[in-house]
Amino acid sequence: MTKDEKEHYRKVAELGCSLCRHQGNEGTPCELHHIRRAGKRSNAPVIGLCPYHHRGSNTGIHGMGRKRFEREYGITEETLHAQTLGLLNVSA
Ligand SMILES: [Zn+2]
Ligand SMILES: [Zn+2]
Repeated sequence: MTKDEKEHYRKVAELGCSLCRHQGNEGTPCELHHIRRAGKRSNAPVIGLCPYHHRGSNTGIHGMGRKRFEREYGITEETLHAQTLGLLNVSA
């Protein structure tokens, strides 16, 4: 991991859970979730998700699976990622 990536991850983590934010609760302490994208492995996009929305068996993206997660919460990983970058003023 490069220094820049480390710095980026730190800033993403500081924003808190991206889904809690989407639901109107800012700054929930979060873990970093790596978005799986086809293609390039470098610069893997990350979003912040709280343990509940990250690993919860019926509430988290890993427990539910991405499709169900996106249907349930009405927002996609990619949109959460775009919002995260927007908040950090970084282009995708
Ligand atoms: Zn959350
Ligand atoms: Zn994850």
